[in-house]
Amino acid sequence: MSLDPALTSGSRAAEIDAHIIDVLRHRVGKDERAAKPHDWFTATVLALRDAVIDRWMESTRKTYDEGGKRVYYLSLEFLIGRLLRDALSNMGLTREMEKALAAHGFDLTTLEDLEPDAALGNGGLGRLAACFMESLASLDIPAYGYGIRYKNGMFRQRIDDGWQVELPETWLSHGNPWEFDRRESAYRIGFGGEVVDRGDGVEWVPAEQVEAYAVDTPVVGWRGKRVNTLRLWTAAALDPIRLDAFNAGDHVGALVEEARADALVRVLYPADSTPAGQELRLRQEYFFTSASIQDIIRRHVQYHCDVRTLPDKAAIQLNDTHPAVAVAEIMRLLVDVHGLEFNEAWDVTRRTVAYTNHTLLPEALESWPLPLFERLLPRHMQIVYAINSRVLREARKTGMDDRAIAAISLIDEHGERRVRMANLAFCGAHSVNGVAALHTELMKTTVFSDLHALYPHKINNKTNGVTPRRWLQQCNPGLVGVLKDAIGPAFLDDAEKLVELNALADDAALGERIAEVKRANKVALARHLKELTGVRIDPDALFDVQIKRIHEYKRQLLNLIETVALYDQIRSHPERDWVPRVKIFGGKAAPSYHNAKLIIKLANDIARRVNSDPSVGGLLKVVFVPNYNVTLAERIIPAADLSEQISTAGMEASGTGNMKFALNGALTIGTLDGANIEIKDRVGDDNIVIFGLTADEVLEQRTTGYNPRKVIEGSKELQQAINAIASGVFSPDDPNRYAALMGGIYDSDWFLVAADFDSYHAAQRGVDRRWEDQPGWRASAIRNIANVGWFSSDRTIGEYARDIWGV
Ligand SMILES: *Cc1c(COP(=O)(O)O)cnc(C)c1O
Repeated sequence: MSLDPALTSGSRAAEIDAHIIDVLRHRVGKDERAAKPHDWFTATVLALRDAVIDRWMESTRKTYDEGGKRVYYLSLEFLIGRLLRDALSNMGLTREMEKALAAHGFDLTTLEDLEPDAALGNGGLGRLAACFMESLASLDIPAYGYGIRYKNGMFRQRIDDGWQVELPETWLSHGNPWEFDRRESAYRIGFGGEVVDRGDGVEWVPAEQVEAYAVDTPVVGWRGKRVNTLRLWTAAALDPIRLDAFNAGDHVGALVEEARADALVRVLYPADSTPAGQELRLRQEYFFTSASIQDIIRRHVQYHCDVRTLPDKAAIQLNDTHPAVAVAEIMRLLVDVHGLEFNEAWDVTRRTVAYTNHTLLPEALESWPLPLFERLLPRHMQIVYAINSRVLREARKTGMDDRAIAAISLIDEHGERRVRMANLAFCGAHSVNGVAALHTELMKTTVFSDLHALYPHKINNKTNGVTPRRWLQQCNPGLVGVLKDAIGPAFLDDAEKLVELNALADDAALGERIAEVKRANKVALARHLKELTGVRIDPDALFDVQIKRIHEYKRQLLNLIETVALYDQIRSHPERDWVPRVKIFGGKAAPSYHNAKLIIKLANDIARRVNSDPSVGGLLKVVFVPNYNVTLAERIIPAADLSEQISTAGMEASGTGNMKFALNGALTIGTLDGANIEIKDRVGDDNIVIFGLTADEVLEQRTTGYNPRKVIEGSKELQQAINAIASGVFSPDDPNRYAALMGGIYDSDWFLVAADFDSYHAAQRGVDRRWEDQPGWRASAIRNIANVGWFSSDRTIGEYARDIWGV
């Protein structure tokens, strides 16, 4: 397909049409009459992919010709979602495709709904990686994303009688028309074995080996400027079937190697913010890291000959510590394979690698039992020791005391000895960045304070962002239409141009048009939620949304307890002019996280009781949306009025959900945590609802003997709500179901739910008053849209490129 830009839209549609029919026949193997909707979907993607490939090859050629530096983004997670709308919209072919498909009686959305949601990630960290890939291509930066092609990504969540049930997600069951198998890009990955001294150096002789081979997905940037590659590794046995065993009748044993390889890429560990700590996880981390590093070094040596110039041509960004073993792997390849001296290799490594930290919770920092690490990666263990003695020597030279030395060490010597991956990443990188201003400051004063003292120039901040293509243009076309009429289309190319809306914030006509779009989005969501859950909701009610992973620090419990308090008050005073609300919850819990799963059950128990109580007269509805994922987020966020960002201050590194909501005109109710602080600074204090303790106050409460029982006894609403939940009002079938969960708040309340309750409850009543002033609400919504263009991942990637990568 040539898609000459000089063609008119009509003739381009005709060209696409002819191409789809050709693909349907010759690559899908169906004629138009026999083709099922799924065949049409496949043909549509393949036809579009053909147009993308031409740009892809151009981009690759350009990068080789220019010989410039490439960015390599290593991430164990890429939470991609669907790609059809994204690729169409970025290629500027949406309208033409709609026209072409209409000729065959299809509308684009029907086909879009056939695309599985690629959920190769847990939450924010994985979605960030996907937004970054799109922004890298949009900014015309040559980049590869490297990760694992999980055969089953994030589990599918079903809600059975209010409980979360995890089912395998079979996103590849119909094949994946986006990807290309690159069997020729294959590397051997070793595990175990021993290190042999060869006299002139050492050699690692692994006990086991698997093959990693690449599966590539093109990533199209905005306006099809550049197409980069997302390279995900899959695994194969070197010897897929042991014929000797097979012929001897051991048919299962003959396939054991293949099964072992398969296990590496079978599942994504469904834990968020907590390390999985299992051997298979360490194997996954090394598998994809080693394949990626081998690929990067092979490419470099092939084109630039000298491995010592790697830092000039490659910037490797580690998304959290999951690929931190890269530091040791680069060192191994430079020293053992390419014959560099240790000091020179260390210099090359550090100038190439940069590390992004995503969490401060000490218990969430990855570390591996030393015996496990040594058994699986004996050569890397030696290298870690060598790096460590070098780092500790530097630390001693500056006069650091034993406590500081112990904190800096790559080996945790308390109790069972462990390898600290964050310390390895910190020492092996030239840049260590946090993901929001508060988070970066806390990095310096808490977990990394001693490393920061030793290497004071490494820590820097790069506040997260989201791609405005997916999170505004594609998910909210109605709003985009209104914004284009108001300020012209320049914001499509530069989200920060949205600031021009500020001048129109009090324009009643604009406010009304935006409100009409919001209402249409709410009507569509109401219809969808009716189908998914059976609950009927009123599109004129205030849609109050908390969608994100279920975690105690994110405090869905605070929201639920407040919901119960509101429910009590509506029943006691039905005569008051309550603002009708719909409380929407969604999110997955790690399968082993007991309290998180119980919180899901509580949301569903409260929903059942509240939604069937005629005495609230429809003033309050509660909906738990099953199987929250990127596709659902794209439906829900454009329909939200209120965005719940209520984590315990100091615990949410950044958050990115908060940015998506504000960009779509929702007001935030939130704590001074993560990027909420920077959102507040940009939209202004009057256009956000802030409540609760600050990070400093949280620290103070926790260190000066916080007494939650006293707090609860001092708040009638809180006490009533907690006691109602604890005594089984919402769980008459099992009155004790929530006794321990509520008892935890009375006894310790680590997440300070009780401490923030009154402030939150009052803030919610403040939201009601704002809602009653619709012109004021609309002006605030406009000021949110106007001022959060800065949270575009284009801005974030621009900062990485300038400050960290030098591209
Ligand atoms: C944006 C996003 C997240 C991150 O949400 P937070 O509110 O920042 O935790 C998680 N999951 C999905 C599907 C997302 O789109």
